[in-house]
Amino acid sequence: MLKEEALKYMGHRGQKLTPDMEQALDECILEVKQYGNFKAVTKEFSLSHSPLKIDELELELDYEDIKTYFKGCTSCLVIACTLGIGLERRIKYWSKVNMSRSVMMDAVASAYLEECCDQYEATLDLKERTYRFAPGYGDLPLELNIPLGNALNISKVIGVTRTRSGLFLPQKSMLGLIGIGAENLKRSCGNCIRREQCELRKEGLRCYKTD
Ligand code: SF4
Repeated sequence: MLKEEALKYMGHRGQKLTPDMEQALDECILEVKQYGNFKAVTKEFSLSHSPLKIDELELELDYEDIKTYFKGCTSCLVIACTLGIGLERRIKYWSKVNMSRSVMMDAVASAYLEECCDQYEATLDLKERTYRFAPGYGDLPLELNIPLGNALNISKVIGVTRTRSGLFLPQKSMLGLIGIGAENLKRSCGNCIRREQCELRKEGLRCYKTD
């Protein structure tokens, strides 16, 4: 499954892999797992509506997409996680000695971060909840990573810093919001604000794991 997800990040659309590529991917998966050090932190905040706001942070979320997803939610859980600096350095090392290997490592690391975050989220046993929604998705600006990351103290707790525009360092880090208290909203193309533009969907693929 990790291999399939990594291939999506690499832009593969079901083409047959050569034995060399299979082997390189297997090696990258082993290496990403070896160098990755998954860490996560979460915090729950209460929400008020009209305007949508995270109360404790006095942070307005006046964005149409998240207003749609958070309709009826009473609180929101913010999750931040990372695979750590060791993996970042390893990917940089490959970028100096073998660029295509570095690109493959990067794709595997992105898929592995999603997988680790999904597994972590499953341990939280959240009931009525939306799916994870990250700044940079839909109309939610990337810059929100800054106040939300500060609220979770991510630089101290999991060793993640941000650029002024909200990009994470190490890059294989993410921050997401989950609305709590409304009807379960599962990730599906039918619920997705990107469905009209989404290239994956047009090709019959999905960004999420299907059973
Ligand atoms: S695959 Fe479906 S759920 Fe994923 S981004 Fe595209 S439209 Fe949205």
